[in-house]
Amino acid sequence: ASQRAAAVARDALHRAAAVLAEWEKWLGELDAVAGDGDHGIGMSRGSAAAASAADTALAAGAGVRTLLARAGEAWSDHAGGTSGALWGAALTVLGGRFGDHDPVTPEAVAEAVRAAVDAVIRLGGAQPGDKTLVDAATPFAEELAANVQKGASLDRALAEAAARATTAATGTARIAARRGRSRTHGDRSIGTPDPGATSFALVMTALSTHGGD
Ligand code: ADP
Ligand code: MG
Ligand code: MG
Repeated sequence: ASQRAAAVARDALHRAAAVLAEWEKWLGELDAVAGDGDHGIGMSRGSAAAASAADTALAAGAGVRTLLARAGEAWSDHAGGTSGALWGAALTVLGGRFGDHDPVTPEAVAEAVRAAVDAVIRLGGAQPGDKTLVDAATPFAEELAANVQKGASLDRALAEAAARATTAATGTARIAARRGRSRTHGDRSIGTPDPGATSFALVMTALSTHGGD
């Protein structure tokens, strides 16, 4: 069970890296509207480093907890920026809720996602409505837990949660940024979705459309 969960996590990180590389330029353009324009490159570099660290960990026989901790460190180290630090911490917290040798159930995934989102809120200090990735991650965690509780498969729950995150990310266009670098140019961001919420939704959509197993 342990190596299987680790392999699923490794594959998910590769899918995240692929979609973030694909949308790198657009994410940078979104961030340039009211921020410093580095969100695309940061997410692309961070996720690529995380995917590569996951390969190394898997080859060394690591379980899912250790693999996600290594991936999280690599993401923070290589991404730079606020979002890189938050994604790195989130991956480490996510992995920390699993054991290296325990089976990973849908309930455990939903609970670990909730803990990772809570860590992002605690570390970054943003609340829903501040126009950050928290605005996509919070409804994502809620929808995931609600679907798992109804007995949905993890794939199905992920797809529903990714759809919620996408709607929420799009909805951030209506609000002014109050957190992060964008806060000083908050009003300029009205009409443009938050880059971090957008990249979060892109990643979760990529994970759910390719399916787990
Ligand atoms: P930086 O702002 O350091 O250049 P990025 O451009 O990579 O970092 O990331 C910007 C994104 O990070 C924002 O669009 C937002 O979603 C997210 N973000 C910024 N500050 C916070 C925060 N305090 N809490 C949560 N997310 C944040
Ligand atoms: Mg930036
Ligand atoms: Mg920056």
